[in-house]
Formats: sequence, C-alpha cells, structure tokens
Amino acid sequence: MPESQPFFEPAAELAALCPDLREVLRKPARTTATHLLIRRDDGRLESFPAWRCQYSDVRGPTKGGIRFHPSVSGEEVETLAFLMTVKTALLDLPFGGAKGGVAVDPGALSGRELEKLARAYVRSFQHVIGAERDVPAPDVNTNGPVVAWMADELKALDGSARTAAITGKPLALGGSEGRSDATGRGAFAVLECLRERLDLFEPGARVAIHGFGNAGRHLAQRLHQAGYRLVGLSDSSGTAVDPDGLDPDEAGAYKRDNGGLAGFAGRAEDDDLATLDCEVLVPAALGGWIDETRARRLRARVVLEVANAAATEAADPVLAERGVTVIPDVLANAGGVAVSHLEWVQNRTGQQWSREAVVEALEERLRAACGRTAERAEEAGATLRTAAYALALERIAETFEVMGRQRVCNE
Ligand code: GLU
Repeated sequence: MPESQPFFEPAAELAALCPDLREVLRKPARTTATHLLIRRDDGRLESFPAWRCQYSDVRGPTKGGIRFHPSVSGEEVETLAFLMTVKTALLDLPFGGAKGGVAVDPGALSGRELEKLARAYVRSFQHVIGAERDVPAPDVNTNGPVVAWMADELKALDGSARTAAITGKPLALGGSEGRSDATGRGAFAVLECLRERLDLFEPGARVAIHGFGNAGRHLAQRLHQAGYRLVGLSDSSGTAVDPDGLDPDEAGAYKRDNGGLAGFAGRAEDDDLATLDCEVLVPAALGGWIDETRARRLRARVVLEVANAAATEAADPVLAERGVTVIPDVLANAGGVAVSHLEWVQNRTGQQWSREAVVEALEERLRAACGRTAERAEEAGATLRTAAYALALERIAETFEVMGRQRVCNE
C-alpha cells in the first residue's frame, strides 16, 4: 500500500495541515472486503472479489459510487474513496468519502447474473450502508437499473424503504430529476465557469472526448449545443474524428446500432485521441489514461478530467510544466455527487424538486467551488488540483478542530 494517497502531500503542505491530520488522512478509516457468490446461468457457483471503503466520515455520512470492472482492486477503491472525501469537502457537502467496487467484467454477465451480483453486493455490505452511515451511488458500469436492484434489495432486507440510503435511483424509485445527466452537465458548467474566469480559450473551441459513456455523452451534447466543435470522440471500440465537427446524437445512434464508435468517422493517428489538434481534451473513461507519455504528447491546452484519477501523479507535473491547465476530477465530475446530495435531501424530507430547481442548485454549488478554487490557485501560484485539494483539506481540518481529536486519534 502506498505511503499516502495521490496528490495528497503537496496539498497538505499548502493547507499547512498539522502532522496528526496528515497521518489520519493518509489511510482510510475502514475498508471491508468480501467475495460475492452468485449462481451463473450455467449452474456454476462463482465468486467475485468486492470492496467498500469508507475513507473518512469526519464531515458526515460517507458517500461514493460502486463500480463493476475487471481491474477493480482494494487499493484502487481506497484511492477513489479518498478522492470522494476531497470532492465532497471541496463542494462543502455534509458528507465524507467512500467507494465500492467489484472485480468483474459486467459485459460477460447476463442481465439475470448482473442483478444477482448487484443484490449480493447489498446483502454483503448491508451493515455499513445507510442514510446516516454510508450512501452508495452509481459509478463505472453501474447505472440507474443496477442501483434500482440495489435499492430494492436494501428495502427487502430491512422491511423499511431506506430510500435515502442509496442515490442515483431511477425516478420511479425515489430518484431525483437531473441525476442521470448531472455529471455531464456539471462538467460543462465547470468548464464554462473556469473558461471565463481564467480566460482559457475562445468560445466555440475544439474538443476531443475519450470515453462515450454516460458522462462523456451528456457532456458532448451540451458542448455541441453551446457551439463547441467536437473534433474527436472515442470509446473502447476505437476513435471517430472529424476536424469539421461530429454530431453527438448521430454518434450515439451509431454506437447503439453498431455496438461502438469505430467506423463512425475517420480514425485518429494510432487510434489515440491524445495527440489530436484541439483546445480541450476530455478523459471521460477510466483512470490513468493520461500517463507521462500522453502528458508529453497531448496538444490540448486544457484537460477536463471527467474520469476519476484520469491523469496519473507522474503526468500532472509534466502537464503543469507544459502550461496545460488541468481541471481536476474533484471539480470536473463533481456534478454527480452534487445531485446525489439533492436526491438524499429530497428523500429525507419527502420532497420532489423540479428539474429546474435541481439544475439551479447544482450550477450554483459548482460555480462557488470553481470560484474558490481558481482564487486559491491564483493566490498560491498552485495548480487547480493542488488548490482544490488544499481547500478540501482545510475544511476537513476545521471539522476536526471543532469535534476534537479524541475519537479519531485515540487520545
Ligand atoms: N460515482 C460518482 C463520483 O465518482 C458519484 C458518486 C455519488 O453520487 O455518490 O463522483
């Protein structure tokens, strides 16, 4: 296990975090690991490693999604749970940070097997999940339908609705208006806010998006509507590029009919979007895509980090040196958890907000976080990432100060 989480130490320096709190925050409060057993359609019993990490509950119930992916590991889940701790504090949400995951290729499961796995996850972790304890949500390869099975299983286990114990639910199960496109909408709002504040590029700039899942697709639609030129899109099947611009709705329809974007338009060199000539590059697939090599080669002036941990710790200084502005994941994809919070509030108060009310509250929260981050970065001469992390760490430190350290530090 690494000594501390990525990007933590420079931010802890900037926040002047005391040694005690550095020690507390370098490691998660709790990680639960198990194996989920499901009967496959062919009659075999198969087990899948699964984790839930509650990194820090200092600021409130822990919050974060559950991902299904073959590369999921305990270490990755912990890193992502730390990231959620930073993200919720940066947004000033009354949550700590968590993450869950199952090491599985969901594409290799039938719908019935997927449902069994989702329900098994909730059965295994039912004792840690709860509106006032730990509130899961969707993440990579888990969406409204998967969350619906999870929410239903929680209800069946407990005999009470427990609606606020999981977010990202479909509307018919107590979900919120505006949750399914919240990450893409939020990413657009953050890009616009920082473009104006930092004078990053002219309106209507060229954008390439790596990853055409839920967040990438919704972001592409908003960019297209706002007059940006989508010069490249990609998914796991390949790349589609056109210097004159691609239509995201046509790309979506093509992907639906053909199973992927490959063949929708021209291909990028090496089938890699990183070196495409554009102003904004958006990693919106899996973490680690912008490694040191891509950081040296990419041509964009702005990286909008929609995928969690898209740029590696080694890539970040290379990008900074090259004058590339990185809008970090904790801001770029924070729209998801911001609307999850509104869903949690609605569930706990029995309210149902309109889409307009949700969008307004989302944009206001993101604008505030962007403004504070940009200001802090300017003052300190730091990157947006270090400034964002420092702001979050300062908030967490403030909570530690008022609650006293006895429980956490065993004094
Ligand atoms: N999985 C999303 C994220 O990484 C959303 C988490 C949530 O809504 O709790 O931010």
